[in-house]
Amino acid sequence: MVIGSGPNGLAAAILLARAGRDVTVYEAARQIGGGARSAELTLPGFLHDVCSAIHPMAAGSPCFEQFPLASHGLEWIQPGAPLAHPLEDGTAVLLDRSIDTTARNLGPDGEAWRRLMEPLAEAWPRIRHDVMGPLLRIPRHPFPMARLGIYGLRPARALAESLFHGPRARALFAGIAAHSLLPLEARPSAAAGVVLGLLAHTSGWPLPRGGAQRISDALAGYLRSLGGEIRAESPVSTLPDAPIVMCDVTPRQLLALSGERFPEPFRRALQRYRYGPGAFKVDWALDGPIPWRARECARAGTVHLGGTLEEIAAWEAQFTGRPFVLVTQPSLFDASRAPAGRHTAWGYCHVPNASTMDMTDAIESQIERFAPGFRARILARHILTPASLERRNPNLVGGDVGGGAMDLRQILFRPTRMLYRTPLAGVFLCSSSTPPGGGVHGMCGYHAVQAM
Ligand SMILES: Cc1cc2nc3c(=O)[nH]c(=O)nc-3n(C[C@H](O)[C@H](O)[C@H](O)COP(=O)(O)OP(=O)(O)OC[C@H]3O[C@@H](n4cnc5c(N)ncnc54)[C@H](O)[C@@H]3O)c2cc1C
Repeated sequence: MVIGSGPNGLAAAILLARAGRDVTVYEAARQIGGGARSAELTLPGFLHDVCSAIHPMAAGSPCFEQFPLASHGLEWIQPGAPLAHPLEDGTAVLLDRSIDTTARNLGPDGEAWRRLMEPLAEAWPRIRHDVMGPLLRIPRHPFPMARLGIYGLRPARALAESLFHGPRARALFAGIAAHSLLPLEARPSAAAGVVLGLLAHTSGWPLPRGGAQRISDALAGYLRSLGGEIRAESPVSTLPDAPIVMCDVTPRQLLALSGERFPEPFRRALQRYRYGPGAFKVDWALDGPIPWRARECARAGTVHLGGTLEEIAAWEAQFTGRPFVLVTQPSLFDASRAPAGRHTAWGYCHVPNASTMDMTDAIESQIERFAPGFRARILARHILTPASLERRNPNLVGGDVGGGAMDLRQILFRPTRMLYRTPLAGVFLCSSSTPPGGGVHGMCGYHAVQAM
């Protein structure tokens, strides 16, 4: 059985069903999908992604590509550009799918971007399996992995300042690296910048037509076609005595599920697991597109609002100054998200774990800074605080979107040295609290089944 119907739980369930097992997934919530769900959060006809919106790791996942998800309704939409990063002077840096075009957009730092990305993008099809899995094993392609490690294991700020001389490339890289949820001065915050940058140039940063729920529904449809079953509104409160139990939960919940059954050293190891910052998220129903001052922002699925590297670094390290805000604008590329002429937008910033700060005004002010007139377009808003995120999905401990901090120790031993295994025979962890960590990609489920 599988506890939890997030992308990792569903991926594990599919692989078990394909191996001929009888599989039932138990999901606490009414709606399946965990972090990949959509709902009319604001007004009728406006469809919002409750958590994940943009899916570079799903589109580039060696696990999902083995599944016939297109025939179960999943269709990817590639926006005109993966990412825009507007600056105070009214211009924006565009991260394009093409390395050449991105290099041209970066002017004098274009060559440095090309030197960073080109060799790794060429090697990506060979190394992605190693990158999206446990790092403590001998890689199949050690040289390109070593190259990735030389860049990725550094603090993002140091890497950006050593590679790039101008503020545009530094700001672009800082915004991407902030997806690590680490201070940009900490190792290995550069890894998120390099890997998500690479994914922009390889699989793109696409969104599913009809919302993130379509990913979960396609996984569920495929699972059912293999004979698997999913029971929603079925929370599990103790570890059952099934031959195989795959737990799509984080260490804190695993401890609660297991009662006294784990030996003390393993319990202590789970208790030591650290969670990262929380998220404060706002979804908007809008009566028009976001009126970006830099018009090229309308070409991008994702827009990073934080100005310079220095500003982004200050927010991510100490939560001081203006918040670094991640915005997605899916209805510009997918008409199914809002009534004709109307739009949806999704934005969030990182806050301290379990923070009760109300960031609504700060987030909207940051959008207004780069898109004057934004507030006048708001028809309705829906707010998700760290506490309300956790209420919807207990895996989001204190609002942590990544299933635990991705610091140096926890990218290697995630959540313990046993990775997917536990001391109980047949009980495995398959959530984003195992390698390779957060994101919709199913690779934690894939590796948990391999471990089994
Ligand atoms: C605000 C936000 C924005 C995000 N944006 C993106 C993005 O744009 N792109 C991206 O790739 N990723 C994004 N993510 C991250 C992504 O959603 C997660 O990393 C991913 O969903 C993790 O998958 P999972 O299967 O490990 O766990 P989850 O998706 O969290 O699923 C776990 C499931 O288990 C269920 N569950 C837990 N305990 C029990 C129990 N005891 N009994 C039964 N069921 C239980 C939960 O209800 C939940 O459905 C975002 C996350 C958040 C919160």
